[in-house]
Amino acid sequence: MAEPVFPRLTVVGFGLIGGSVARAAKAYGLAGHVTAADNSPAVRTRVRELDVVDAVADSLAEAVAEADAVVLSVPVGESGPVVQAMAPFLKPGVVVSDVGSVKAAVIAAVTPHLPDHASFVPAHPVAGTEFSGPDAGFAELFADRWCILTPYERSTEAGVAAMGRLWQGFGARVETMAPRHHDLVLAITSHVPHLIAYNIVGTAAHLEEVTQSEVMKFSAGGFRDFTRIAASDPTMWRDIFLNNKDAVLEMLGRFSEDLSSLQRMVRFGDGDGLFELFTRTRAIRTGIIAEGQETAAPDFGRRKG
Ligand code: NAP
Repeated sequence: MAEPVFPRLTVVGFGLIGGSVARAAKAYGLAGHVTAADNSPAVRTRVRELDVVDAVADSLAEAVAEADAVVLSVPVGESGPVVQAMAPFLKPGVVVSDVGSVKAAVIAAVTPHLPDHASFVPAHPVAGTEFSGPDAGFAELFADRWCILTPYERSTEAGVAAMGRLWQGFGARVETMAPRHHDLVLAITSHVPHLIAYNIVGTAAHLEEVTQSEVMKFSAGGFRDFTRIAASDPTMWRDIFLNNKDAVLEMLGRFSEDLSSLQRMVRFGDGDGLFELFTRTRAIRTGIIAEGQETAAPDFGRRKG
C-alpha cells in the first residue's frame, strides 16, 4: 500500500471515471477516506449498495466540507455549475481537480467560481470504455494509460505535484500540457474519430436502399468497430463537442481536405497513392501498439478480466 496522497478525497459524479478514481484511491491506499457524491439519488443508492467508498454524501456541502481534494467526474458542461455550488463549503487549501475530456472550456467555466484559497489542477485521464454509470468503474482502468495535467495560473505547485502522485499511484503515466494544446491533440486523436463514427453509423441508419437488418447482419467489417465508438455516452459526447468547438472544427477542416484527396484517388484509380497511404496508416497502428496503448487483439484489447 502506498502512502495516502490526501487524507480525505471526494469524488463528485460516480460514473465510469469517478467510480474508477474512487475505487483506485481505496484499492491503492492513496486516500485515507473517500467520499462519493452524485446528483442522481439512484446512483447514490447504488454506490451505497456497492460498498466501495467510505461515505456517500447527499449534498455537495456535506461532500466537500472536510475534503483535502475534490475530483470532478461529471460531464464537461457540469464542471462550472458544480464548482459554483460547492465553492462556499470548500476547505482552505483544498485541491480541486477534474477528469474532463476538454480542458480550456472547463478552466474558463470553473475559474470564476473558485475561491482564492483553492487550487485547481485540471486533469484528463486518457482511458475509458464505452460503458457508463456506477457499476462501470474499476480500479485498474488507468494502469499504463496517460493522464494529462494542464496546469494554469490557478494551479499551485503543491497541488500539481499531489495530483501527479495520485495519478501515478493509479498506475498512470503523467504528462503536462498547455490546456489549448491538449484540446487540439485530443480533437484529432479522440473527438474527430468519434464524430466520424457517429456520422457513419448515422448515415447507415438513414440509407433507404439498405434495410436496417442488412446493416446489422453484414456488419462484421469496419462498420462494427464504428458502432462501438458511436455507442458512447450521448451526454458526455454532446458536451465535448459543445466545449471543444474550435479545435474540432480546425481538425475537421484538415480531415475534409484529406478525404477529398482520397476521394480523388478512388475516382481516378490511383492505386499507388492508396497503397502508399494505407502503408503509412498501418505503421501508425503498429506504433501505437509498440507504445503499449493498444494490443493487437481483434477486440482492441478492451475487454479486461
Ligand atoms: P458517466 O459514467 O455518465 O458518469 C457521470 C456521473 O456524473 C453520472 O452518475 C451523472 O449522474 C453524474 N452527474 C452529472 N451531472 C452531475 C452534477 N451536476 N453533480 C453531480 N453529479 C453529476 O460519465 P463518465 O464516462 O464517468 O465521464 C465523466 C467525465 O469523465 C466527463 O467529463 C468525461 O469527459 C470524462 N472522461 C470520460 C472518459 C470515458 O471514456 N468515459 C474518458 C476520460 C474522461 P446522471 O447520470 O444522473 O446525470
